[in-house]
Amino acid sequence: MADTKILSVSPTDPDPDAIEQAAAVLRKGGLVAFPTETVYGLGADVLNLGAIKKVFEAKGRPSDNPLIVHVAGTKQLDDIVDEIPDKGKTLGEAFWPGPLTLVMKRTILVSDLVTSGLDTVAVRMPGHPVALALIRAFGEGIVGPSANLSGRPSPTAASHVYDDLRGHVDLILDAGPTVIGLESTVVDVTVDPPVILRLGGLTRERIEEAIGNVETDTSGEHGVRSPGTRHRHYAPRAQVILARMGDAAAFGAVLREQRQLGKNVGCIVHSQLLSHLESGDFYRVLPSSMEIFGRYLFRTLRELDALRVDVIVIEGVEEHGLGATIMDRLRRASQG
Ligand code: AMP
Ligand code: MG
Repeated sequence: MADTKILSVSPTDPDPDAIEQAAAVLRKGGLVAFPTETVYGLGADVLNLGAIKKVFEAKGRPSDNPLIVHVAGTKQLDDIVDEIPDKGKTLGEAFWPGPLTLVMKRTILVSDLVTSGLDTVAVRMPGHPVALALIRAFGEGIVGPSANLSGRPSPTAASHVYDDLRGHVDLILDAGPTVIGLESTVVDVTVDPPVILRLGGLTRERIEEAIGNVETDTSGEHGVRSPGTRHRHYAPRAQVILARMGDAAAFGAVLREQRQLGKNVGCIVHSQLLSHLESGDFYRVLPSSMEIFGRYLFRTLRELDALRVDVIVIEGVEEHGLGATIMDRLRRASQG
């Protein structure tokens, strides 16, 4: 493929002609990057094996990392999911459309390529008007892994998709920056209590308000249930060092140490105590609201990468609510 076309659309009221163009690309087995409320997704026809293969190739995604299928309503859901357990129904009613992915038993229509051979499929109804319009115009479900090169920070703007996948995606629907900026929360509802396989834009607290106790898949023991979380993820090109929240002495020591090693250092901080330690383009102060910190995290990692820093030192956050999701991403980004 030679060109990647970019079409600007309104995030709230997308032009039907633009959506129809994108749906036509999907019908021909092409790839369309589309905005969701979490991050941009790399869309392809869930029932077209050639298109699915192109998704893995474009991203450089390991074939043992299954794809999430995006649906807009019960029509697409029925084709893909064999059985919706009661707690899955409750969660879907409470949080769809939204940043929640449910793992359920799949139908025979869903290929092994999509699920990496698992007998389950991950499904989400995204809460973005452009994503919903695209799925409705296309008619079937579309796979939608994050539209980045595998391992890199997820794309929260069309330009991130273009930087990573230019020449490998036919069309990018550009509806501006995404609001949540972190991926969906993945919950396996084939078991009871359900298991959170990946924390994301929907917090554990809200899930438990809806269905009571859930377990979290953190150990390697469950690794096989959530294949994707084994791989290195969310990492900028620079090395990431995670620092303790609000500890100015320790933070300063890390900066001195890295600079003595001759490293070009970028920082991301949020607390009062660290906000005024330094300033400038390499020293990014994000709001301490976790909603906004999450919205800007991946974008800021990419911006610091573009400044060619060697190391990014990031101040940790309090580990509850969205903070738990953010700490998960920071830990993964700082591993390896
Ligand atoms: P991504 O689309 O890149 O944000 O990642 C999708 C996530 O969903 C990965 O962590 C996958 O391992 C997980 N996932 C997708 N399908 C399944 C499935 N059938 N069972 C368990 N986890 C899944
Ligand atoms: Mg991803």
